[in-house]
Amino acid sequence: MNIPMLDLVAQYRAIKDDVLPAMMQVIETQQFIMGPSVSQLEAEIARLSHAKHGIGCASGTDALLLPLKALNLKPGDEVITTPFTFFATAGTIHNAGATPVFVDIQPDTFNIDPAAVKRAITPRTRAIMPVHLYGQMADMLELMQIGRPLGVKVIEDAAQAIGARRKMDGEWRVAGELGWVTGYSFFPSKNLGAWGDGGMMVTSDDAAADRLKNLRLHGGAKQYHHDEVGTNSRLDTLQAAILLAKLPHLAQWSAQRREHAAYYTQALAEVPEVKPPVVDPANEHIFHQYTLRAERRDALQAHLKKEGIGHAVYYPIPLHRQPCFAHLGYKDGSLPQAEQASREAISLPIYPELTRPQLDRVIDAIRGFYR
Ligand SMILES: *Cc1c(COP(=O)(O)O)cnc(C)c1O
Repeated sequence: MNIPMLDLVAQYRAIKDDVLPAMMQVIETQQFIMGPSVSQLEAEIARLSHAKHGIGCASGTDALLLPLKALNLKPGDEVITTPFTFFATAGTIHNAGATPVFVDIQPDTFNIDPAAVKRAITPRTRAIMPVHLYGQMADMLELMQIGRPLGVKVIEDAAQAIGARRKMDGEWRVAGELGWVTGYSFFPSKNLGAWGDGGMMVTSDDAAADRLKNLRLHGGAKQYHHDEVGTNSRLDTLQAAILLAKLPHLAQWSAQRREHAAYYTQALAEVPEVKPPVVDPANEHIFHQYTLRAERRDALQAHLKKEGIGHAVYYPIPLHRQPCFAHLGYKDGSLPQAEQASREAISLPIYPELTRPQLDRVIDAIRGFYR
């Protein structure tokens, strides 16, 4: 029995009777650009994020790029972020005209270390961009406390964390609630995935919302009036309709992911060579990924491949060691926790539709490798 890393066809079969009529409705009206589904989804995602505004855009990458653009960054301005993330996090900082400043991660959660952020603040720091990696929120309370008194904005990269929450001062706070602007991705493999590209920004800052709406429409929310130069980064109406039809399933899917994670973690407790993911007790994780630290990771990877078991290494090269950022001067050993994580991390299949026998097969293959 081969187990894929992700089985979007299984999800499609389960929900197609909800999604296809929603698509057909858009097709019948031919309102492909900024149709009513877009504003409806914007309202729903804002509500889910305890934020005032949702602004759809073309991708998760643009959902980070546009708020960075809205900061009017100048050459030499710095944005502090994590090196242990998908490339878009730092690529957008560069493309918005600033310099990414990478700081190390916490070894347990893989998330940005607030103490390291604090040490990296300079007079040129304009923003902090944490990533809620694998579906577990970074320490937003600490990060807000670092940024707020300095006027440094926090932009949340919540591409992997839609619906994740964290207890702060005794209250549940969700991804997207505290940051200045938060970016989501609807890339098909994300927990809420479109059938193509898509993204969304949320914010409770009215002026920021207006600015972002401008930037996604060539700098002029009013047609043929351009207050500034923006770009075309709209969320497609068909994608919005698909996402609206999928959204009611999201909480259940996240719960199933958590159940699978608990099952893996219990079973793998008896394999000393692997360390299951650590959930910060303040967090409710949504397990976009279930990521182990494994001894002899590359050999384990080869074994899983031979056994027909899906797996992935997120991320094999930390961003401060990418050739495109060599000019920033980070060396091997500059950010040791991120580098160690890139040597040890391996993610297992965790999609909601997995069955117990499939989970057991994954577990057996890992046990078999270390036996
Ligand atoms: C997926 C992802 C993005 C980019 O999203 P796209 O929709 O693919 O552009 C950004 N950051 C992180 C952490 C991601 O996982």
